[in-house]
Amino acid sequence: MPHSDDAFDHDPATGHPRPARREFKARGSFVERCPGCNLPVLNCLCPFKTTAQSEAEVWLITHPLEHLKPTNTGRLIVDVLPASKVFTWYRTAPDDTLLALLNDERYAPFVIFPDDQPDYADRVVGGEAVEEAKREGKTPVYILLDGTWRQARRIFRKSAYLDSLPVLPLHTTRETRYRLRKPASKAHLCTAEVAVELLRAGGDTTAAEVLDDYFDAFNESYAASRFYAKIDSPSPAMQRLLDRQKA
Ligand SMILES: [Zn+2]
Repeated sequence: MPHSDDAFDHDPATGHPRPARREFKARGSFVERCPGCNLPVLNCLCPFKTTAQSEAEVWLITHPLEHLKPTNTGRLIVDVLPASKVFTWYRTAPDDTLLALLNDERYAPFVIFPDDQPDYADRVVGGEAVEEAKREGKTPVYILLDGTWRQARRIFRKSAYLDSLPVLPLHTTRETRYRLRKPASKAHLCTAEVAVELLRAGGDTTAAEVLDDYFDAFNESYAASRFYAKIDSPSPAMQRLLDRQKA
């Protein structure tokens, strides 16, 4: 979900400044991108695209500025779970399809958001609410607010149609493995990572594993391309995805 917008100018592994060549080339502007995955063609992600089944669905409410960023990870969720839905957030114009779906009895939507403010404490629920929804025959839906922390908070606060929904905070000890933007904290997970941990917590273990591997493959491919390095043999995550495709 939310992440820092900070310029990514240090190697996350070492904390060292990035090589000076970045100063001569604007990031991303010179690379040829694959029309399928929007990654640099040098390490295209398309061969690793793998779908999975899940009981729960993920719906994204994406800030308009986030859609355009090739480093956005929300789209990885859509690749792995094709039933996922993506809505663009406009403060003054709620999406009619989203409004209709929020009132659809087949679904039990949860807004994924931290439980750190007292004014909505009465809406906060735990994993048992997800289990309860399943027992009632409903499809649990994790609504992710896709943008920076600041944008996500704005979506949460300025969208009246979310005010009646239960708030499901994600409690996890996972530290982010996202390498493409510098997080304000290791505890700040990116959108795909949040989905992985929600799916895992909700019992959609296989979907969580596939998405986690696909996320790693995305990270590895993208990061290598930034150094103009071609990945010659698949990483362990990439290999697991290829094996699943054959199975
Ligand atoms: Zn591609």
